[in-house]
Amino acid sequence: MLKVTDSLSRRLANWARVRSPWISVFNTGSCNACDIEVIACLMPRFDVERFGILAKGSPRHADILIVTGPVTRKQESRLRRIWEQMPEPKYVIAMGACGASGGVFQGLYHVVDGGVESVIPVDVFVAGCPPRPDEIINAVVACLGLMKEDLARGGKEWRRKPGEAPREPAEVPA
Ligand code: SF4
Repeated sequence: MLKVTDSLSRRLANWARVRSPWISVFNTGSCNACDIEVIACLMPRFDVERFGILAKGSPRHADILIVTGPVTRKQESRLRRIWEQMPEPKYVIAMGACGASGGVFQGLYHVVDGGVESVIPVDVFVAGCPPRPDEIINAVVACLGLMKEDLARGGKEWRRKPGEAPREPAEVPA
């Protein structure tokens, strides 16, 4: 009986989460162009609040973390800590070429190899340098699709059963 209640409350929480995802943004060393595009999403022209998407200052309240920029060595542990502070299930969107691989900063002495995925599990990659606001909205919608199915790669959800293949992150093309 406890299990049924548990799964019911989980489904209810998921239903609410899909209708109004809360988002935090973390800059791990971006040139700031990606951040400007994220800010454009929140402004009246694109107005993501009409879809129930809310920007939150604290990762402790966020369902989705948008990471902008290559991961610098200085920000690596901070990114990990911020991701750990998020409640589960948690979703991650890596922005642009830098989020995927380090982009133009790849190979520099102060940049971690392999992009955001080398530090925390990424659910959706958005292509571009920087991605446009409509592509960012597209990425959040892709994330909502994963949320509906409860398919977070991170946290406890990531600890899959032995023998089960890990889910590949989604890609939003440019
Ligand atoms: S992907 Fe392009 S725009 Fe975004 S942080 Fe990297 S260099 Fe800047």
